Amino acid sequence: MKMSAGVIDGRKVSAGVRARVAAEVSDFVAGGGKPPVLATVIVGEDPASEVYVANKHRACEEAGMESVHHGLPHETTQADLLELVARLGADDGVDGILVQLPVPDHIDADAVVAAIDPAKDVDGLSPVSAGLLAGGSPGMVPCTPAGVIELLDHQGTELEGAEAVIVGRSKLVGRPLVSLLLDRNATVTVCHSRTRDLKAVCRRADVLIAAVGVPRLIGAAHIKPGAVVIDVGINRTDDGLVGDVDFDAVSRVAGAITPVPGGVGPMTIAMLISNTLQAARNRA
Ligand code: NAD
Repeated sequence: MKMSAGVIDGRKVSAGVRARVAAEVSDFVAGGGKPPVLATVIVGEDPASEVYVANKHRACEEAGMESVHHGLPHETTQADLLELVARLGADDGVDGILVQLPVPDHIDADAVVAAIDPAKDVDGLSPVSAGLLAGGSPGMVPCTPAGVIELLDHQGTELEGAEAVIVGRSKLVGRPLVSLLLDRNATVTVCHSRTRDLKAVCRRADVLIAAVGVPRLIGAAHIKPGAVVIDVGINRTDDGLVGDVDFDAVSRVAGAITPVPGGVGPMTIAMLISNTLQAARNRA
């Protein structure tokens, strides 16, 4: 009889993180701290960004934190946006700053992210945050990769000495995961679009993390039996939302696997509010 993989329930783990943060916020406030404040910025009108940011505000509220939103018109200049980011950085009443990407084409997103005060960089994407993480003394850790580690820990996955293979080398997911997994003493390999034999490298993995953006790229032939598989991919297809992993096929070989939706996705906001609390504590 073929065993079927355990499904890692991201919604449940995310709810646990959010409840933990809410309890810690309550202690922080009881100890005389001000409720942490997240400032969000959207430039232009992007319906998806509006939904993401509304969800972030709701998560803040549920955790006993406050949030303020700055919705700027599409025509906003880079100079005006930089000025707002500097103002939020100097504002003692703001603990976390999040500029929702994408920004319109006439704005250099990298320059804006680089201008965020590293102490308030709750998305963890500024060059200072990335440098600290790469140097092994993390400041703010990007939310999606932090959520991946949280899921692995919840699962009780042994990372020390494990073969961890990451597919994808983005600034947002793949690269931060290299540092996070090295910090946990995993043996880390990164695959990308030029990797010669993706299947062979993936088959070495005790822990396989896919962050590619190609629907169902990872099939059963990529999986070492019993491996823990984390699917970061979110791809809209004619069959609805699917990950980078062929869930049905891989479930028959893997030991544990995250579904899409309901795996990594819900973790991102949970880690954002966790970072916002951390920023508030560091500043207090
Ligand atoms: P990206 O496009 O910046 O990077 C993709 C990476 O995949 C690149 O490094 C590229 O080299 C690699 N790649 C592309 N084709 C490949 C192939 N055929 N074989 C091996 N590697 C290949 O993407 P990203 O921002 O890291 O996002 C990856 C996926 O994760 C997307 O589906 C995105 O929607 C999703 N995502 C989800 C969350 C979340 O759950 N909250 C957050 C961020 C990204």
